[in-house]
Amino acid sequence: MIRFEDVSVTYEGAAGPAVRGVDFEVPEGELVLLVGPSGTGKSTILNSVSGLVPHFTGGTLRGRVTVAGRDTRTHKPRELADVVGTVGQDPLAHFVTATVEDELAYGMESLGIAPAVMRRRVEETLDLLGLDGLRDRAIATLSGGQRQRVAIGSVLTPHPEVLVLDEPTSALDPAAAEEVLAVLQRLVHDLGTTVFLAEHRLERVVQYADRVVLLPGPGAVPVCGTPAEVMAV
Ligand code: ADP
Ligand code: ADP
Repeated sequence: MIRFEDVSVTYEGAAGPAVRGVDFEVPEGELVLLVGPSGTGKSTILNSVSGLVPHFTGGTLRGRVTVAGRDTRTHKPRELADVVGTVGQDPLAHFVTATVEDELAYGMESLGIAPAVMRRRVEETLDLLGLDGLRDRAIATLSGGQRQRVAIGSVLTPHPEVLVLDEPTSALDPAAAEEVLAVLQRLVHDLGTTVFLAEHRLERVVQYADRVVLLPGPGAVPVCGTPAEVMAV
């Protein structure tokens, strides 16, 4: 579903590439964990999937990244928006409306989805993410874990095939992190969504991962494999 073919990304003025030798696949319907310390290129790799690299953040991309067969170098983020849903590091930065219900509807508004379908998808997403009781709440009054689930819900309503998340649990306490991870697991298992997520620590997420891509250090070639293979490195 996502394929990196010998990718490197170099930002202007940097001494060397931010990432290099990136060559792996995220198969359809799997949850793949991208892990490594801060500064090793996790956001760069995720942004290469959503098309932010190279279209918006700068950076020269060599090699090829495809998502559902589309080359992200020739497709701008909005030309990938129907297949890729992206949740950034800061859920607050994500929100554009006041209430939970409006936020879930917002992502569909520019896609020309019929109002009746939009209403159904808002209901289905509230239910899926355990947000039923919170539909009329102002987002500003929610807990961190609830906000993260609303951010995920807002990119799910267009039914993307791929969900890309940058450190979705880093800022959460263990119980809230568990709730978010349980939601992601349900998406993969029940709906066949492909999930690619970055974290700087392995422990919390590794039990949910089908595969792991480990960035050992800045500019280092990633190590890819099953969780057991990568944990043995
Ligand atoms: P991580 O997500 O693992 O913290 P990043 O992908 O954010 O890693 O950063 C990898 C390296 O690339 C860092 O040295 C960072 O400073 C640099 N970098 C990231 N984004 C940009 C950018 N837009 N312009 C220039 N340098 C960048
Ligand atoms: P509609 O366009 O009428 O909403 P779809 O064919 O798009 O119908 O999908 C409806 C089905 O998709 C529901 O049965 C639901 O279980 C499932 N679904 C819900 N959320 C997602 C999602 N994020 N990705 C894929 N399928 C989903």
